[in-house]
Amino acid sequence: MIKQFVPSEFCIKCKGCCRFKEADSVWSPCLLDEEIQELLDKKDIPVASISINRRICPVANPDGAGFVCPYLEIQDNKCKIYDIRPFECRLYPFLINLRKGKVLLTVDLNCPYVYEKINTQEAKDYIAYLAGYLNSPKQLKMLKGNPRIIQAYEEVREVAEINLKRPEAI
Ligand code: SF4
Ligand code: SF4
Repeated sequence: MIKQFVPSEFCIKCKGCCRFKEADSVWSPCLLDEEIQELLDKKDIPVASISINRRICPVANPDGAGFVCPYLEIQDNKCKIYDIRPFECRLYPFLINLRKGKVLLTVDLNCPYVYEKINTQEAKDYIAYLAGYLNSPKQLKMLKGNPRIIQAYEEVREVAEINLKRPEAI
């Protein structure tokens, strides 16, 4: 399980995550194979919430413009499936990125918490921990088996390299 960098008390007061401009946003969480099964095994999770390309399908925001994750509890800004939230949700504001044929660990500085902290020792220590975690044999095998989660996000900052060759399926 990935240790979190951003404290949950900070996230609850922020509306930076779980909301999307478009229904087919590249930022909507992409699911690992085992996460799809875990979600489907939960009786109260509608199957329609998972797209054919294995992403969570955002729904129209009942509170305003744009789209939201169907698992977001809008009133209190909490995730309804927090205990089984996807790998990508646990990883953010860090992302697995494909750039110039290399698989990289990157960070999205649009997150206000990481933007403030990125040059601190705390952030450096966390990045070293996260790079070590993702480069472990178990996590490399997981990434290899789920190549679709390695995406070409733009405007993110490279922080470490992942020791994986460009997967065939992307
Ligand atoms: S943008 Fe950052 S601080 Fe805001 S909810 Fe997302 S991870 Fe938390
Ligand atoms: S699954 Fe939870 S954490 Fe992930 S986008 Fe949806 S509401 Fe947010």
